[in-house]
Amino acid sequence: MAKKTSVLLIYTGGTIGMIQDLKSGQLRPFDFQHLTEQIPELKKFDTHLSAISFTHPIDSSDMSPEIWVKIATIIKKNYSKYDGFVILHGSDTMAFTASALSFMLENLSKPVILTGSQLPIGIIRTDGKENLITAIEIAASKKKGLPVVSEVCIYFEYHLYRGNRTHKFNAEHFLAFQSSNYPALADAGVHLTYNNSALYKAKKGKLQVHTALDPNISILKLYPGITKNAVHAILNTPGLKGLILETFGAGNCSTQPWFLKAIADKIKKGMIILNISQCNAGSVEQGKYEGGASLQKAGVISGRDMTTEAAVTKLMFVLGHSKSIKEARKQLNLSLVGEMTL
Ligand code: ASP
Repeated sequence: MAKKTSVLLIYTGGTIGMIQDLKSGQLRPFDFQHLTEQIPELKKFDTHLSAISFTHPIDSSDMSPEIWVKIATIIKKNYSKYDGFVILHGSDTMAFTASALSFMLENLSKPVILTGSQLPIGIIRTDGKENLITAIEIAASKKKGLPVVSEVCIYFEYHLYRGNRTHKFNAEHFLAFQSSNYPALADAGVHLTYNNSALYKAKKGKLQVHTALDPNISILKLYPGITKNAVHAILNTPGLKGLILETFGAGNCSTQPWFLKAIADKIKKGMIILNISQCNAGSVEQGKYEGGASLQKAGVISGRDMTTEAAVTKLMFVLGHSKSIKEARKQLNLSLVGEMTL
């Protein structure tokens, strides 16, 4: 008899895991022992489900590189035992975690699906039930004995997205995530329809879990009227090794000489500066306007169509692993796991 497909649920916290105490009306963390009580539909799955819960579930605003390492380590330890993984996570920083894990889990050949909800699972109108049920179904999906999905994804409100392409754009609607620069990997309607040509092709080789992340990075979001003091304060942050410049439109910035000189001087001293756009959709094209062309000349690396979440975690990952600035710059120009369009 064929072995039952098995999925490991990793509960980190967030709204999905809260249940409402009927007496006090307060939200409290969800007990995994009662998972099947809350969602009896789970019993109907022909999939073996196991769960690991953080001892102290967190609001995802408290997410950190240390916790990404903890999650990646849980996956590493259980990798051979399960066919897929579902991570229950607060939606606020879910796109950061999905992006970080996509870089940390090299040669991933099984699905790692993050999901959560805008309303707790114990609330009648919860979006959490459907999100969790379909996330499990995706994590268990196989075609000719092989996983359909072999990458880190976010499943939310009927769509499966590449994790490192997503961004939380709505705090009110159930449709909370978007992936503006990459198509959805699957849509859940009457059928679960995969967009096969968009799915990441698993690389051959053993899973390598990378845990060195360097948090000495920052983001400088440009705006008209930004002062020298504000720019210098960020650029001179003690220990800063990498900076994400959130520029206008297609990678454009002020052409004021003091600004361009401050950027160029830092690059000469070894800082890595990555240019991404403040726009949700589209790509940086550094040669298009005078400001962007000056950034290119100064050695700013184009982040092309990467999300802020992917840029932050890629920079931490690359700085944590590269032996030299040259190697780090080379890595940043590559699409490591489908996070940017070349
Ligand atoms: N504050 C919550 C969190 O991110 C929101 C959510 O889960 O949707 O943990």
